[in-house]
Amino acid sequence: MCGRGFHKWEDEPRKQFDVKQGRLISEEVCKRCGKRRTRRS
Ligand SMILES: [Zn+2]
Repeated sequence: MCGRGFHKWEDEPRKQFDVKQGRLISEEVCKRCGKRRTRRS
């Protein structure tokens, strides 16, 4: 699944603040492969 781009995203409790955009960014981690991505809320 992960190989085809279907990651099992789970919210990382740690939130970051993007200073440039002045927004909160939430981070997500794939439960299966550990890949990370950030999302702007
Ligand atoms: Zn994955």
